[in-house]
Amino acid sequence: MSKIVFFSIPAHGHTNPTIPVVSQLIRNGHEVWYYSFKEFQKKIEGAGAKFIPCDDFLPPISQQELNRKAGKDFAALIEMIGDTTIALDEKVCSELREIQPDCIVSDSLCFWGKLFAKKLGIPYICSTTTFAFNQYTAKLMKRSVKEILRLIVGMPRINKKIELLQSYGYEVDSFLSIIQNDNETDTIVYTSKEFQPMAETFSDKFAFIGPSIGKSHEVHVEKKSRKLIYISLGTVLNQNKNFYQNCIQAFADSPYDIVMSVGEKTDIASLGTIPNNFIVKNHVEQIAVLQKVDVFITHCGMNSVNESLYFGVPMVLFPLHSEQRIVADRVAELGAGIKLKANKPKFLAKAVADLIEHQTFLENTKKLSEAFRNAGGAEEAAKVIVAKIEEKH
Ligand code: UDP
Repeated sequence: MSKIVFFSIPAHGHTNPTIPVVSQLIRNGHEVWYYSFKEFQKKIEGAGAKFIPCDDFLPPISQQELNRKAGKDFAALIEMIGDTTIALDEKVCSELREIQPDCIVSDSLCFWGKLFAKKLGIPYICSTTTFAFNQYTAKLMKRSVKEILRLIVGMPRINKKIELLQSYGYEVDSFLSIIQNDNETDTIVYTSKEFQPMAETFSDKFAFIGPSIGKSHEVHVEKKSRKLIYISLGTVLNQNKNFYQNCIQAFADSPYDIVMSVGEKTDIASLGTIPNNFIVKNHVEQIAVLQKVDVFITHCGMNSVNESLYFGVPMVLFPLHSEQRIVADRVAELGAGIKLKANKPKFLAKAVADLIEHQTFLENTKKLSEAFRNAGGAEEAAKVIVAKIEEKH
């Protein structure tokens, strides 16, 4: 039996894929601790791990902020990582010395998990819920001159924080070594090699295991005669009344039935009259819904897209930020979806009609689905973690 410690940032998209992996490890007889945030306690304990809250040690960060910093403002990101690591240093290091884990699995944006592992000499595995990232895929991010200038101006702040981390015993030589993984780092990626852009530029230390969907979540569904459309903007940037009302306008008198998940913070009453062919909820069991639907209108969060491809559902692509734009581009490139021209009812209706009319979208999606199903999922991720531990013994 091994002892494994997980770290993640406060975001459902980064936490969800790790949950079936934790369950699998527990089923295989291992012991798991999980450093996270109170909002995720139920999920984590439900999977059988020991939950350790970090809420009181962090500056208040939201996922939007973290995404913004990760994508644009490196100096602010490094300062936040440095402050968080130092705030957690005493507590986490003393707990980890007691637990003596065989391995730390930390989200690719939860840089402090990696720093603790390095400081204490504990084997480390990176858990990546986005596309895997290296100097080749970085080119897809298309950095603006403003961002590059901001980086240059921010260098003294970055260097100061790196020196502070060094004084606490963290071996950090450059800011790139904090935010980027090299080809030597064991990395679990929750997508398939076929979907990952430039997959050939990654070493075999990268395990592309596909979306981590527990087999128990698969249901048998009889397809209905009316087409079923699912709409969701995920769990973060989902307060978009204008978009939901455009969907209502686009599909109110359509031959389709619609399931629309509008997020916990959207007041459904504020959307006006809900047509009879609509079911509108603050949250749905997306994995169950995707198994019944014909088309998914999505914000192109990596998890949503992976899940949609896994279940063979073609997508209307409505990305909201740069990382989601890369995901949308890749889906469009592989012919499994259509990019929404603009947030307008007529374009929504046209994109859905095109996906339904042209069988090639469904065929391309089915091909990708097969690759996802063969990638191994949570069981494979658990195997990668155990293999890493055994390699050390
Ligand atoms: N999700 C869900 N029910 C909903 C909306 C979202 O279960 O009503 C899940 C979805 O299955 C996915 C995650 O929340 O696993 C959203 O992650 P994603 O990376 O797609 O987007 P984010 O929320 O991070 O923007």
